[in-house]
Amino acid sequence: MNTLFRALPSVDACLSALTRAITTKEDPLALAPRPLLRQSVTDFLDQKRESIREKDITEATLLTLESLLPSLIEETRRAVRPRLRRVLNATGVVIHTNMGRSVLAESALRAVQEAALGYCNLELDLTTGARGSRYSLVEHLLCTLSGAEAALVVNNNAAAVLLVLDTLCKGGEVIVSRGQLVEIGGSFRIPEVMEKSGATLREVGATNRTHLHDYENAITPETVALLRVHTSNYRVVGFHKEVTLPEMVELGRARNIPVIEDLGSGSLVDFTPYGLPGEPTVQAVVHGGADVVTFSGDKVLGGPQAGIIVGRRDLIQRIRKNPLNRALRCDKFTLAALEATLRHYLEPEQALQAVPTLRMMTANPEGLTRRARTLAARLRRSLGAAARITLRPDVSRVGGGSFPECDLPTTLVCVQPTDISATTLKQRLLDTTPPLLGRLEDQAFCLDVRTLDDAEFSMAQNALHQALAD
Ligand SMILES: *Cc1c(COP(=O)(O)O)cnc(C)c1O
Repeated sequence: MNTLFRALPSVDACLSALTRAITTKEDPLALAPRPLLRQSVTDFLDQKRESIREKDITEATLLTLESLLPSLIEETRRAVRPRLRRVLNATGVVIHTNMGRSVLAESALRAVQEAALGYCNLELDLTTGARGSRYSLVEHLLCTLSGAEAALVVNNNAAAVLLVLDTLCKGGEVIVSRGQLVEIGGSFRIPEVMEKSGATLREVGATNRTHLHDYENAITPETVALLRVHTSNYRVVGFHKEVTLPEMVELGRARNIPVIEDLGSGSLVDFTPYGLPGEPTVQAVVHGGADVVTFSGDKVLGGPQAGIIVGRRDLIQRIRKNPLNRALRCDKFTLAALEATLRHYLEPEQALQAVPTLRMMTANPEGLTRRARTLAARLRRSLGAAARITLRPDVSRVGGGSFPECDLPTTLVCVQPTDISATTLKQRLLDTTPPLLGRLEDQAFCLDVRTLDDAEFSMAQNALHQALAD
């Protein structure tokens, strides 16, 4: 056994061999910091020692640097890659929370780069040279687009809801319909957020029906707000009623109680011309008289993770001054990306092309079929006998808890591997460079081109090639 241990190469010999194995500037071996490479080599050699002790390796010739090199290179490349990596989303779910929700527009990416590569005027008033406010950078755009008097941006919409409730409702009672006590996922539940904020929840109505008189009867001197929560991630069908925004606004105004609406997705575009159901837009809710409206930056808006609060100037002013705001504030990258994204909305037709989330959501079915044919032809050429490639009509989903149950017609490219199961293929594709995520349908691994950019076709093709060659 000692002979075997002695046959193992030294760490330094392995490191030199790895340096010689570097193929391109982008090779993970070239990009990794030395300590990571050294750690990976140490782990690799430790594993071999373990195999020797376990008698899995009994021949010294298997332990020379030459015999170990191919697996050393492969394992080290895998071990030293950054943990957060690009993946290809061929699932057809446009706003996929597990894959980072919205893909940024080119312009947003450039704005982030500009803000990140040097110093920027994040809190610097360039007319006076004095201290400025980070929130003023996007406030004018948000007000122009939504019609609101004032706006504020925080870390995400969960933070926005918490901050609004903490500022306006702490110690008081907030009336919410039982039909709107939603859980968003990731343990964000309206009743629990309410509890955290120190406001008391006054539930009214029933799960399926709430009437205006339910709200009226629940108002007491302790009532500080009427809260509406957009039930964005599920649908109630059948015997169902919620009070409309105008009714609620009228009641709120008569009793001098603000109406707060958590819109969730918060779109600035009406998607009905694109075959999606009519969801209230931010501007419609502001115009409808809601006093404070909150929504996400990275759902249907297609921007960076952010929580956007728009509404009445006096209320936004109070929210901004809440010390909690400091703890929930967003960073310069968010503001850079958000400003660039919002600028597209000044020309909505242009936004539909420039903002990837909007482009994917509104992609027309004929265009998708054409692109699916292109991808299928390329895969047939490159995969040959390793897989059977077919097309089939199916549907995509918006995702991110937006437009639930809404089917967007699409065409899938289905890959049926010849020698392995579709499940094995799916598993192997998690480990390709980059990983490729798709759907399993009827024993085939399927790619939905809605969420795959043309520029990603060759990467998907390579990933499949790698996975089928293994
Ligand atoms: C998604 C959602 C949230 C949480 O928004 P994040 O930006 O994910 O923090 C809150 N309320 C509703 C209604 C939502 O749909």
